[in-house]
Order: sequence, then C-alpha cells, then structure tokens
Amino acid sequence: MTVTRLCILGCGGFIGSHLLDRLLSEAGFEVIGIDTASTKIKCHLTSPGFSFVPLDIENSAAVRPFIQRCDMVVSLAALCNPSLYNTIPVRVIENNFSQPRAVVAMCSEYKKRLVHFSTCEVYGRTISGYAGRPSGGAIERFNEDCSPFVLGPIGAQRWTYACAKQLLERLIYAYGFERGLEFTIIRPFNFIGPRMDFIPGIDGEGVPRVIACFMEALLFQKPLKLVDGGKNRRTFTAIEDAINAIMAIIKKPDKAKGQVFNIGNPANETTIAGLAHRMRDIYQQLNPKSAGRTIDIVNVTSEEFYGQGYEDSDRRVPDISKAADLLGWKPAIDLDEALCSTMRSYIEDYGKFAAETKQQ
Ligand code: NAD
Ligand code: UDP
Repeated sequence: MTVTRLCILGCGGFIGSHLLDRLLSEAGFEVIGIDTASTKIKCHLTSPGFSFVPLDIENSAAVRPFIQRCDMVVSLAALCNPSLYNTIPVRVIENNFSQPRAVVAMCSEYKKRLVHFSTCEVYGRTISGYAGRPSGGAIERFNEDCSPFVLGPIGAQRWTYACAKQLLERLIYAYGFERGLEFTIIRPFNFIGPRMDFIPGIDGEGVPRVIACFMEALLFQKPLKLVDGGKNRRTFTAIEDAINAIMAIIKKPDKAKGQVFNIGNPANETTIAGLAHRMRDIYQQLNPKSAGRTIDIVNVTSEEFYGQGYEDSDRRVPDISKAADLLGWKPAIDLDEALCSTMRSYIEDYGKFAAETKQQ
C-alpha cells in the first residue's frame, strides 16, 4: 500500500499543524484537512496540495465524501484538555467516543486505513499510584500489548477522557477483528512544541495544558502553580520527534497495520515540580532582562485548580521498543532542548502582549 491522499480530522490543532508542515514540505501528498479552527494553519490555507474544509465532525454526513476520497484517514480531532474532563464530561465523552465512532464505521465501510490518535491516558495511573499507594516506585514502562489499564472510580471524572479513548480503541480493534478494518492506533506521551494550546485571555479561555500554564505565569510574572505539590511525573516528547514517528506510520503502512504504538521519549521524564524549576531557569536564560526578578512557584490543591472530580496519573513512561523495531523510530531530542525551542516560540508569539500589559 502507498499513501498519497490523506484526510486529516483535527488538522488545525497542535499536532495537526506540525503534521501539515511536514507533509506539505514533502512532494507527493494531497491533503484534505477538516477542523472547526484554522488559526494555527493560516500559512497553509492556500498551499498547493492542501484543501481546508471548515467542518465539525459531529456532522458525519458532511465528512463522508472526504473519507471516500482518500487513502488514509488521520483522526486527531478531540477535546483533550484535562481541565475539561471533570467540568464538561458529557461533551468530552461525545467528542472522544460518539463522534469518532462514525469515522471508524465509515473507514470500515470504504476500506480506508485509519490512523487514530488515542492517548497514553488509557493506561490511567500506575499500580504504584493505585489505592493511595505512594507514587515514584519502580519504573513500570507501559507496554502496548501487555500493560493493564487502571482508571479511578466513576466519580473521579478525570477519567472520562481516558475511558472514552479506551473504548474507541476497543471499537477500532473490534472492527479490525470482525470487519477487516485496517488501522493503526497512536498513544502520544505529552508532546510539546510551538503552537501548543493557548494563553488564557489572549487566544483562548480556560486552563490549558501544563506548558502553556507555566508560560502564561512566566510571561505575565505570576506564580507557577504546582497541582498537589507537582509530585506527579510526565515524559515529555518533542513534537519534531513525534512527527518523525507519524511520518513513518504514513510511509510504512504495511509495518504499522493493526498495531498500537506508544510514541514518547522515556528519557525525558520529570516531576512537574522539576519541570517548573527547569522552565523558570530556561526563561531567565532566554530573557536576560528578567534575571533578578524571581517568579514564585507555589502549591495548589487539585480541587482549587481543576474543581471536584480531578485525579491524576502519577507516572507514565512508555516502552517504545515496538516503534523502534517496526518503524525504525527513536526520539532524539532531550527535555531541555525541547523546552528551549517551545519556550522561545511562546516568547515570540506572546511576548508583545506581556510587554503591553506591563506598560498599562
Ligand atoms: P489540539 O486540541 O491542539 O487539536 C485538536 C483539534 O481538533 C483542534 O484544532 C480542534 O478544533 C479540533 N476538533 C475538536 N473537536 C472537533 C470536531 N468535533 N470537529 C472538528 N474539529 C474538532 O490537540 P492535539 O494536542 O493536537 O491532539 C491531537 C490528538 O492527539 C487528540 O486526539 C488527542 O487526544 C491526542 N493526544 C495528544 C497528546 C499531546 O501530547 N498533544 C497527548 C495525548 C493524546
Ligand atoms: N499541572 C500543574 N500546574 C499547572 C497545570 C498542570 O501542576 O499549572 C500538572 C497536572 O496536574 C498534571 C501535569 O501538570 O499533573 C500535566 O498536566 P497537563 O494538563 O499538561 O496534561 P496531562 O499530562 O495531565 O494530560
């Protein structure tokens, strides 16, 4: 199988915008991009080889002809911001399960390869963080084909997203098993890079993911907030490394067929408290004028920060041996390098707003 015509759902978001950059810089791809938003892909709206369709995928009848026209559907569209999981859980479940469910059925009907973006959150929390046991025990690398999924109780609505994504994975697998759907499932581990999320009050409202929260604090000289002390850990993955993996999946569809891949960088693990200190140091290096002005790092409870029903993954480190063996992929960018390039781009994009605020 050779893939030349792609339909990307959710092409206007963080990962979609970087995937478009790469696909459109290489010859030989025709891309139809569907999203309700296009600000992050403005530069591509008139690019040869790209057609943008402003559409909500809830309208599956309108999406159908675009799926019919392509070789591969890359399904990125989602509400994937943890602050939403326990505040608008119904929409989170609809958006991450009910809506993409129709996409799965259409890919099966028209025999199109589906590359679906799931999440490392399907693993939930580690066994060491289960039932109140302290986190930070022996490292358990999550393996796509062996690790159990440990989610919290239903009252802890944090897990609505993980559970919806997990059920969709099972549905995709079932379509493969019963009806011959060809698929690949990707579980991203905290990709970071330029154009991730938004800065509240400038180009979005609400609480973004942690990198944008900390950047807002640094740019506007507010305290960085550590939820429940920032003891939980994440492994952050540079978007360039992640796009290399996605391109390998697009270019080696036979190797990727029927597989679930962890895409992450196990070497880039840090506690969130460690991340806050690193980002504050890097910000001072990138912005020598800010040296001498110490920005505080403070603790907040998860209930104060996210509201009731929030729980956290304590630790998630990927086993990436399958992606190495089948795709020949390995991440190469370390955490400091990934943070530096991400933070530099936030400073370029938002620095002028921070400067204006200071003058007022
Ligand atoms: P993002 O929020 O930046 O992008 C998602 C895009 O989907 C947005 O542009 C949004 O407008 C669009 N969208 C949402 N609902 C839609 C709908 N009904 N119709 C049309 N467009 C819709 O998110 P991202 O970081 O680019 O993530 C992309 C995918 O990867 C998601 O499925 C997410 O769950 C998964 N993922 C990402 C990460 C990560 O580290 N970025 C981690 C785990 C999982
Ligand atoms: N977090 C934090 N301060 C913030 C934002 C997030 O301590 O201002 C924590 C959050 O509780 C979680 C981690 O940072 O432990 C990563 O959160 P993010 O929203 O980026 O996504 P997640 O990895 O949980 O999906």
